[in-house]
Amino acid sequence: MAKIILLGTSSSIPTKKRDNTSFLFIYKNQLFLIDCPGSIVQKLLKVKIDFRKLQNIIITHEHPDHIYGIISLIHSQMYFNKLLNIFTNKTCIKIIKKLTKIFDLDKPNFLKIKFFDVFENETFYKYNDLELSALKTKHIKNSFGVKFTFAKKTIIYSSDTAFNEGILQEGVKIDYLIHDCTASSSYFKKYPQLYKMHTCSKDLANYLQKNKNIKKLIPIHFLLLDKKEEQRIKNELAILGNKVIFPKDFSKLRL
Ligand SMILES: [Zn+2]
Ligand SMILES: [Zn+2]
Repeated sequence: MAKIILLGTSSSIPTKKRDNTSFLFIYKNQLFLIDCPGSIVQKLLKVKIDFRKLQNIIITHEHPDHIYGIISLIHSQMYFNKLLNIFTNKTCIKIIKKLTKIFDLDKPNFLKIKFFDVFENETFYKYNDLELSALKTKHIKNSFGVKFTFAKKTIIYSSDTAFNEGILQEGVKIDYLIHDCTASSSYFKKYPQLYKMHTCSKDLANYLQKNKNIKKLIPIHFLLLDKKEEQRIKNELAILGNKVIFPKDFSKLRL
């Protein structure tokens, strides 16, 4: 059985109750952090996971809300962890290497950081029955989502993306889809530039209503500047009934 713990569910602008999007994926003692904003160490403490045990991090693109916590995490782990594997794209690898230099944290005799370019092979991680692969998104150059397969189950995390059927791999059974659901259709209409990089709740709901291969949706990456926005998003997703798991920060799911 796998476990997902959502550490954050907001877009680039956090709210009182929601920090930038990131989550943990745990399967048979393998622990992954997916995206890295905020104080990851404090979030791990809150969900009772020892930060020294976190050795695998996936960073889906270089927008600050997905990467800015990495330097603080490396600093915290410096003397307590021997190895950190970072799975990401070439641009993020460059940024993290630069940051560790600037902050004088590139000391291999303490923490060794190993970088993996997720686009180099079809799967970027494989151990026993767990396989992870990168899916190209419609967001920025080389941004990607993640497909997790294990025990005949599939989870797809879209990360940030304009609605893109390609990532949903038509015909493939998806047990859990963790998808960009930045705002409602009325918010997108007010700021149409959002369509180029993100997904609105109405488009997501319409597509999922037709697609029977996707079992559960976990919408994520909410932009809640307008007080009524959360309710508007919920209203647009309501046609999906119990197919939707509307998350809070620190929600835990067993799959
Ligand atoms: Zn984002
Ligand atoms: Zn982004």
